[in-house]
Amino acid sequence: MRTLGEILGDADNVVRGIPAAPGLYIGVAHRYAKEAVGARDGDADEPDVEIERFREALAKSKKELGKVFNLAKEKMGETRAAIFEAQLMVLDDAALVETIERRIREEGRRPEVVVESEINKYIEMMNLSTEAYMKERALDIEDIRNRIVRNLQKKRWESKITENVVVVAEHLTPADTILFSRRNVKGYVTDFGGLTSHAAIVARSLDIPAVVGAHGAAERTREGAEVIVDGFHGYLFVDPTDEQRAFFEDKVEKLERLKIELKELRDSPAETTDGKRVELLANVDVSGETALLVANGAEGVGLYRTEQIIEETGVFPEEDRQVEIYAELAARVYPNPITIRAFDLGGDKVRLFHHKEANPFLGLRGVRFLLDNRKLFKTQTRAVLRASVNRNVKYMIPMVSTIEEIRETKRLLAECRRELDEEGTPYDRDLPFGIMVEVPSAALMASDFAKEVDFLSVGTNDLIQYLMAVDRGNDAVYDLYMEFHPAVLRTLEHIVRTARPTNTSVSVCGEMAADPMATPFFVGIGMESLSVSPAAIPVIKNVIRHLSHEECRALTDECLALGAEYEVKEVVRKFYEEKIAKHTGENA
Ligand code: PEP
Ligand code: MG
Repeated sequence: MRTLGEILGDADNVVRGIPAAPGLYIGVAHRYAKEAVGARDGDADEPDVEIERFREALAKSKKELGKVFNLAKEKMGETRAAIFEAQLMVLDDAALVETIERRIREEGRRPEVVVESEINKYIEMMNLSTEAYMKERALDIEDIRNRIVRNLQKKRWESKITENVVVVAEHLTPADTILFSRRNVKGYVTDFGGLTSHAAIVARSLDIPAVVGAHGAAERTREGAEVIVDGFHGYLFVDPTDEQRAFFEDKVEKLERLKIELKELRDSPAETTDGKRVELLANVDVSGETALLVANGAEGVGLYRTEQIIEETGVFPEEDRQVEIYAELAARVYPNPITIRAFDLGGDKVRLFHHKEANPFLGLRGVRFLLDNRKLFKTQTRAVLRASVNRNVKYMIPMVSTIEEIRETKRLLAECRRELDEEGTPYDRDLPFGIMVEVPSAALMASDFAKEVDFLSVGTNDLIQYLMAVDRGNDAVYDLYMEFHPAVLRTLEHIVRTARPTNTSVSVCGEMAADPMATPFFVGIGMESLSVSPAAIPVIKNVIRHLSHEECRALTDECLALGAEYEVKEVVRKFYEEKIAKHTGENA
């Protein structure tokens, strides 16, 4: 059997992008391009007539978007659908509507032109942001502008899409992606967009292979062309050769078989062949993902990233709204536990207040920000307590680097409890409280910190970044971001070994936990619990079930004695190829 590298060789029918949602599909392409909605200037009618036309188009746009919003709620849950609510809010912005109408009247211009010019101001402002997320949201606003202009021109959104196609487009708006999801789309490939683009997010929630940021994909693909999407590695093959097709057909077949096998594993424990049990939890970024985690047999939620709520809605939710969100999630996974992480704001994530910081990753991030904004922190802490009445909620704080931060948070928790007692509001008096271990100082102090809390959760994404002094999002230093660097492995082993005598439980929730190559190492050091994206659960469980604790311990000892990452990788890869590769989807 040839390898993917050999198949890629010097093939010139391949477009490379960012792997955004795992999976493979071989099928027919639908080249999707929205008709351009150029807003040409021209002779305007009487202002009253033009304003009436604008109002009709606005009402129609609202109606359309309302439908999309309802569909999104049904497909992806309330929280995720909130982005459409945000779009609807733009349409309801009285100041914007008033400005547009005033300009139509005063300048005697056609509404198309005024709408474009006014909404472009919003877009330009958002494009000035250095945050990728805000730039993506600018595209959402562009979608609203085009929708109104299209309705002014009385054009309809025609989607000629048939079932079972791979949608290839320069760019997909959130609404496109949601509407397509009704049509049994089997894959998404876009020229632009990153991992936070909606095509990517929706594809991951719906478990459809996707490649984003594949520059030139749209231009290279004809309507109806045969294509292969490899969402594991980020490739689009256009008009595949017989050899390429045969290679992927074989993979798809193995993947299908594996999926059936994995489904059967749903209710089996993640246990090694010699009886060592590992708890397998799911990371949740959006409420819509709970369907998949339940289906995949997660034993609970190990990490709920609450800052996602702010990323999606752009606002800090009020206490009652937070209680609703947390309680709904807790109810969905009940009686299994859910670990709610306090807002991890700052760094490269959303910032509510725009402090200028030269080094945001080393700045006011996570618990530092929260303690600096006590009111906001208290609101969230009260909401988490209120959502804990069924006793399956845990609470943890991110980016801890000192014991004072832990003690200060405990004081804040006590204050919230007192208030709730006075109000007579019920909550779980034993709510477990823990910390993320993702800063080297916390890792070194693991046993001291462990004595202060009920659990530790290791965040490898940040731990690696801070240990290696390498920005986790910077391509230029990507090769220094080393999961298997001896310093990383020794730190992980140190945390587990030194925390053990305190009886405080330790889990890991960074991306490394979802890497099947790293599974034997985690089992070997005695990591009790892994929290991974819902889609990765069956694969990791399957890997664990094919390992023995004893052989993992031997592998771990061997790795911990090595001094270079490439040496560790050699050992790990050999083990992986001999014992694991056949049990993962990627190497099916
Ligand atoms: C981590 O740092 O590993 C982690 C899980 O947190 P986040 O990725 O949200 O920073
Ligand atoms: Mg982190």
